[in-house]
Amino acid sequence: MKIDTLCVQAGYEPKNGEPRVVPIAQSTTFVYDTAETMGRLFDLEEEGFFYTRLGNPTLDAVEKKIAALEGGVGAMLTSSGQAASLISITNICKAGDHVIASAAIYGGTFNLFNKTLRDLGIDFDFVEPDITADELDKAFKENTKAVFVETLTNPSLDVVDLQMFSNVAHAHHCPLIVDNTFATPVNCRPFEWGADIVVHSTSKYMDGHAVSLGGCVVDSGNFDWTKGDYQMLTTPDETYHGVIYTEQFGKAAYIVKARTHLMRDYGTQMSPQNAFLLTLGLDTLHLRMRRHCDNALALARFLESHDKVEKVNYPGLESNKYYTVAQKYMPNGTCGVISIFVKGGKEGAVRFMEGLKLAKIVIHVADARTCVLHPASTTHRQLSDQQLIDAGIAPNMVRFSVGIEDPEDIIADVAQALEKV
Ligand SMILES: *Cc1c(COP(=O)(O)O)cnc(C)c1O
Repeated sequence: MKIDTLCVQAGYEPKNGEPRVVPIAQSTTFVYDTAETMGRLFDLEEEGFFYTRLGNPTLDAVEKKIAALEGGVGAMLTSSGQAASLISITNICKAGDHVIASAAIYGGTFNLFNKTLRDLGIDFDFVEPDITADELDKAFKENTKAVFVETLTNPSLDVVDLQMFSNVAHAHHCPLIVDNTFATPVNCRPFEWGADIVVHSTSKYMDGHAVSLGGCVVDSGNFDWTKGDYQMLTTPDETYHGVIYTEQFGKAAYIVKARTHLMRDYGTQMSPQNAFLLTLGLDTLHLRMRRHCDNALALARFLESHDKVEKVNYPGLESNKYYTVAQKYMPNGTCGVISIFVKGGKEGAVRFMEGLKLAKIVIHVADARTCVLHPASTTHRQLSDQQLIDAGIAPNMVRFSVGIEDPEDIIADVAQALEKV
């Protein structure tokens, strides 16, 4: 089935007399006739739900839908995008390991990697998103276990060459992990370009209505963990009766371990209610993404020739540095986010934002309602000046998240706010 159909139909197939819409299984626990059956569930010998921290029918349906959208063998929902990024790394890395990450990533992910995971002993090197294959090759160390990038970076909107990153990573027997939050599987499916693991903040376009926080880890099933040094997956897990994930679960080893090991221990589960809200969002993801992209392109074109604007950054513009690479990986559009560099420095940016009426100032992005944010003084305020430059953030940059309203109304609002700059 095509992606538009999968958005609406995948993940849940009701049988005779069952609800048409995936029900909210608002229950922490599930009933079985015998202790024996439950024992087999615990030993991973049988599939079934027993405790919502490890699995729940509502979450299961949504996980299957996202796995289908990305073209993976399995997915696991998490309480937030941050939890998904955390799990994507710690599922295969421990103290003493090394990860190569793009420098242009979401500020929260950067802090998680550069501070929290570093404090736990996992080492990170950050590379430019437009690094060459040769330079990337040189960044690998003996203990490198993964490469992490964003398809379309938040908020600098760099587009990474996914095929190049996956080729170089694979030459070093490392998986490529891709945060595909901004592109969504409607506009880009990283597995088709060699990525091995995808993570999402479902709080953004997937939910799309700014109602539920969430994340997701998706496994392509394509990476051969027995080739590199991934003992967590290839040697017995004593906390699970000596199970060897690659032997018992084959292509799904990574995602099964993420659930049975890390979700068990971290407990960063999404609630059934949030999973239900997420699947409602996913039902219309394909329609919304198209509208977000059309509206964003119309606004970007308007801004490109505006005399109060120093620069517009939108990979859908022919003048953009990443236009060609964006056309390759996202031929149907990138996303609804535009970076606007307003004339008059930081003050100009602030005046522009405060002049907006329809677009509201929020710490959010990728939502049906047009919204706006000043990264240098909010989401990225903890970064040093050099880190800000590395992440592609200038003091006069405004992150403009174009919603799905009528494009003429959005442009009119921006036009009147720019008059005040
Ligand atoms: C928001 C975001 C995250 C973090 O997700 P939360 O759901 O807020 O925890 C991670 N990556 C990207 C690209 C994001 O935009």
